[in-house]
Amino acid sequence: MLSGPKGTEQSSVAPCSICGRIEASFDLPGPTEKFCWGCSADLATILALTAEINAAKLAGAGTDELLSELSDISSRMLQRSQSADLGQ
Ligand SMILES: [Zn+2]
Repeated sequence: MLSGPKGTEQSSVAPCSICGRIEASFDLPGPTEKFCWGCSADLATILALTAEINAAKLAGAGTDELLSELSDISSRMLQRSQSADLGQ
């Protein structure tokens, strides 16, 4: 009975949870998901923008610029995850 090498599925290198890239995965402190450097940077920006938007709302300030920046980054991440799907 043939069996594959042990540890194939539990590799120390996990694919990025967003774009599926296996190279240079990156552990964020806290969540168990893995992200590559590009996605983790975008994710950090999105978290920061979300916090800014919430703060601006509380302060009664306009959030249009922040929201458009957030949607730019979101669609960029979406495109990256879609192109990863097409590549497989
Ligand atoms: Zn990624």
